[in-house]
Amino acid sequence: MSKLLLLLGDQLDQHQQAIRELDKQQDHILMAELTDEAGYVPHNRRKIALIFSAMRHMAKGLRDSGYRVTYFTYQQSVEAGLNSISELVCHQLKQHAYQAFAYVEAGEYRLDQELDTLTKRLDVPTEKFDCSNFIFSRKTMLGWFEGKKSPRMEHYYRWARQQTGWLMDNNKPLGGQYNYDKQNRQPWDPSVVPPPALQFEPDTITQDVIALVNETFAHHPGTLHDFAMAVTTQQAEQALDDFIQLRLPSFGDYQDALADNQSTVFHSLLSAYINIGLLSPVKVCEAVVKAYEDGRAPLNAVEGFIRQILGWREYVRGLYWHCGPDYQHRNALNSTTPLPDWFWTGDTRMRCVSQAISSSLNQAYAHHIQRLMVIGNFALLTGLDVKAVCRWYLAVYIDAFEWVELPNTLGMALYADDGFVASKPYAASGRYINKMGNHCKNCAYNINQTTGNKACPFNALYWQFIHRHQSKFKDNPRMALMLSQWQKKSHDDQQALLDWSEHLLERLDSL
Ligand SMILES: Cc1cc2nc3c(=O)[nH]c(=O)nc-3n(C[C@H](O)[C@H](O)[C@H](O)COP(=O)(O)OP(=O)(O)OC[C@H]3O[C@@H](n4cnc5c(N)ncnc54)[C@H](O)[C@@H]3O)c2cc1C
Ligand code: SF4
Repeated sequence: MSKLLLLLGDQLDQHQQAIRELDKQQDHILMAELTDEAGYVPHNRRKIALIFSAMRHMAKGLRDSGYRVTYFTYQQSVEAGLNSISELVCHQLKQHAYQAFAYVEAGEYRLDQELDTLTKRLDVPTEKFDCSNFIFSRKTMLGWFEGKKSPRMEHYYRWARQQTGWLMDNNKPLGGQYNYDKQNRQPWDPSVVPPPALQFEPDTITQDVIALVNETFAHHPGTLHDFAMAVTTQQAEQALDDFIQLRLPSFGDYQDALADNQSTVFHSLLSAYINIGLLSPVKVCEAVVKAYEDGRAPLNAVEGFIRQILGWREYVRGLYWHCGPDYQHRNALNSTTPLPDWFWTGDTRMRCVSQAISSSLNQAYAHHIQRLMVIGNFALLTGLDVKAVCRWYLAVYIDAFEWVELPNTLGMALYADDGFVASKPYAASGRYINKMGNHCKNCAYNINQTTGNKACPFNALYWQFIHRHQSKFKDNPRMALMLSQWQKKSHDDQQALLDWSEHLLERLDSL
């Protein structure tokens, strides 16, 4: 019996069960670079290059190991008129008398629904495999969410630590605490020089892809002249080792820091590799736990890192499937302001925002605090349109896939799900940004002023946000302090802040 296995661009785990079960003599693997997938948002050129190159390397590796692989390059898909996954599969099923079709569960609703509809009309039996990009299966995660009124990450994380036994001793957390977040909030120290991430010289496969992407997706954001990412599992594992050796020991200390002219700090830069299946999240966590056991990294760094992967990453994926496709339409704060044009250029005088956006557009990367407390915070305070902001995040980042982008942007950053992900909005004035780093010293705006042409825009916008939503937040105990600080201000001070913030909101394009 001959089987056709479809593999998508984010299903590049060469050891996954769907591949292990294939019969090398009879079965075929189908992979393709498709217009629909590359263009449903203006994906960053770096992301397209990473995925196409990693797919081509994977196809080559599979062929070298004796598998039969049918691969459509972008040009071949276009010439054959194959734009979508359904068109691709139907086309391939006609080429050969396959007796079965197999696929791996898709990461997001859009494709999940397309594959569901497709398989219902095929006249061969179909088989669906779990996606191996996660520590827990989708079913297990849905089981954890089921019936919980307020399914918070911290509760899930404790459960996940107990299930995996990572950083546990006799069912108790190592060091006596599950969470060392309080030790992971050091501001940036400008005298520190973080080691750069490992670079990989593009080989001929990657060079071909870069040329294709530059030509075909010239109107998308992103630069490729300095593309040096891992494109195979072997390289991604080298990138992991490099991170563990050089950056993990200080990861915790500077996890929340904001550094001027520095977007990577001590972060791992591993998200894209894990999200497309090049790196196993289980292997990543095991390697990091081992570094702690061998005395190569302190507990606050290791726990902080494990919490991101075993905690946040698995949790947001579970939440995405738990909340269903309607989640994307939520807009609890009625945020509808259009995005300023500089979201697509980085051309704003707000130094923190300009650096975070420029790095996002050019490098397809910004670290978590830039995404949450700089760009996300600005979007939250100014009430930028939720769908437009989510689309922007989906387009610009190397690691962006809807299952992870949506809960982080709509839920965590924009509070548009009314507090399902975040127990309070991540709203902050410029004081927070100043406390965590050194952008403000080099900014055209003055962090200590709240109104006037020189004043840091985050300051007045923050108070206007609190004022605008005070009736919504009045019953949230975590917002009590902020509300009372606002209410204690004199009428004149309040009015001056509201007038100035209105002035700013009318001129977002020229900030
Ligand atoms: C508004 C917003 C949008 C985001 N969009 C994405 C996205 O599209 N894709 C994506 O992978 N991450 C997203 N994140 C989460 C996080 O910012 C990135 O995973 C992280 O910045 C990637 O860089 P890194 O690999 O250097 O991460 P590190 O700081 O080194 O963290 C280690 C790993 O933990 C995981 N991780 C950390 N935080 C999160 C989180 N909140 N959710 C899920 N995984 C997490 C990632 O796999 C990451 O590689 C978003 C966060 C925010 C606030
Ligand atoms: S002064 Fe305000 S806008 Fe400028 S860097 Fe600081 S927080 Fe950002």
